[in-house]
Amino acid sequence: MKNSIFKSTLVLAALAQPLLASAVMAATVIHAGSLIDSTSNKVIQKATVIITDNKITAINKGFTEGSSEDTVIDLSAYTLMPGFMDMHTHISSQHNGLASYIERFTLNEADYAIKGVHYAEKTLMAGFTTVRNLGDRHNETVALRNAINKGMVKGPRIYTAAKSIATTGGHADPTNGHSKSIMGDPGPVDGVVNGVAQARKAVRQRYKDGADLIKITATGGVLSVAKSGQNPQFMDDELTAIVQTAKDYGMTVAVHAHGKEGMLRAIKAGVNSIEHGTYMDKEVFKQMKKYGTYYVPTIIAGNWVAEKAKIDGFFPELVRPKAAAIGPLIQQTFSNAYKAGVKIAFGTDSGVSAHGDNGLEFVLMVEAGMKPIEAIRSATQNAANLLNISDSLGTIEVGKLADLVAVKGDPLQQISLLQNVNFVMKDGVIYKHQ
Ligand SMILES: [Zn+2]
Repeated sequence: MKNSIFKSTLVLAALAQPLLASAVMAATVIHAGSLIDSTSNKVIQKATVIITDNKITAINKGFTEGSSEDTVIDLSAYTLMPGFMDMHTHISSQHNGLASYIERFTLNEADYAIKGVHYAEKTLMAGFTTVRNLGDRHNETVALRNAINKGMVKGPRIYTAAKSIATTGGHADPTNGHSKSIMGDPGPVDGVVNGVAQARKAVRQRYKDGADLIKITATGGVLSVAKSGQNPQFMDDELTAIVQTAKDYGMTVAVHAHGKEGMLRAIKAGVNSIEHGTYMDKEVFKQMKKYGTYYVPTIIAGNWVAEKAKIDGFFPELVRPKAAAIGPLIQQTFSNAYKAGVKIAFGTDSGVSAHGDNGLEFVLMVEAGMKPIEAIRSATQNAANLLNISDSLGTIEVGKLADLVAVKGDPLQQISLLQNVNFVMKDGVIYKHQ
């Protein structure tokens, strides 16, 4: 009896197999005229990338045909690349001069959440299939991330720091510039810390709130209503407390910094990336290389604030001189850091500049002397390394998730093509094809 059940199960299995196989095996077959897989500086001419479900299952030389069930996508006039990753966005807001400083009093959490839905789609359509969000107002990007992951909203994969952490009066203190009657005394839950215990508490709170990583503002910044754009704003013990606590919870630490002293303290405390980095010099480069710290330049944001500082009344009076002084320096800093051999990951600070314009950063990087292929790798392989997700994303390799973008023509000859991506696939789903 046992034996016959065994046999009939085998027969059923044999019968079921062909049906099952064809259902599973239907694939998307992409014919790429050029393939930048981002594992090296090489470009492969004529390649076929096969996607099954949400994964890359084969990469063949030349154009190969799939089975009759497969969907063939003809990108033979395009260059195919891994989906781009922007390591510095603020996806639930967008700067609009003085009005942005008033919004915090007139908008509710739901308004920021809905803005996030709008900007997330723009970001994805610009070819950015992953972003690292470095600061929101009400933890709304945690909800946005979850909704995107569930397929309810079109947008990039989001790795979010939720609310940034600052010290009292520091760059990300949410009550800077408020009148005394509404200023209050924000604490670790709101992202304001003083001393080691509060620093630990703020990191643990973000873990509890659902953040993926930590963002701190280690020096003054441009757009906050505060005098200094570059003074150090954390003590060594506070920085160490943040980095160690973050490590305990499996989180990395991204650091906003313009001034040298604040950067040096943060790098030595073991943070993972320095954002903007305006006043970096040889000593800072040396320390970054020693500690393996990434630089996320955000040139586009520097240029944007420098331009807007020329307009009377665009910024509050405390902000305008900082924007005029700091903004124009970032591109040169980037050029120096690149020549010094600092690890660079692509980031725009979009939300300062407009969401969807992220690709302009590629143009500015190349303008500052970076090889186009390296600019692309900074937004793919390097970014995935910084996010600790290089086992599944950042390059086009068998077994990785199918996040792919393509442009018509050769971006290595014409980098501005990356400002208008023609094809976007995320997790095996095509969102754009023109
Ligand atoms: Zn930022």
